[in-house]
Amino acid sequence: MSDCLFCKIVSGEIPSHKVYEDDHVVSFLDIHPVKIGHTLVIPKKHSVNLVESSVEDLTHVMTAVKEVMKGLIRTVDAEGFNVTSNIGQSAGQAVFHTHFHVIPRHNGDGLAMWAHKEVTQEELAVLAQRMR
Ligand code: AMP
Ligand code: ZN
Repeated sequence: MSDCLFCKIVSGEIPSHKVYEDDHVVSFLDIHPVKIGHTLVIPKKHSVNLVESSVEDLTHVMTAVKEVMKGLIRTVDAEGFNVTSNIGQSAGQAVFHTHFHVIPRHNGDGLAMWAHKEVTQEELAVLAQRMR
């Protein structure tokens, strides 16, 4: 994809701070980190997002995510992680090349996560049945 930002990072046309690379995957530091160590992991082969990407690519990506987590434990003493992927504009996806965010967490770091809703057991049961 000639106009894709992350394809240009894969090819080296746009510079990045790469932390891991193999035949299928590149990982580099996020330019606007949520926390120091915030890292992105992407398949080299272009796909728009996780829904579109192949199981093979996702397998390679998740293997690399584990390597990145090991690196963040070693370098920034990560005590936990948020591993997330924004899929679609509605979910906040801004770069339309499949990527996972690996965000290191530390006890008491104060990063807020989403608020939870109240639902009934019946609502859960109906939705689960429909999804099955
Ligand atoms: P998303 O909102 O899930 O699509 O996330 C895209 C991420 O890419 C954001 O966290 C950006 O800070 C990051 N980003 C955008 N451009 C670059 C770049 N040139 N190098 C590294 N990270 C980038
Ligand atoms: Zn791309």
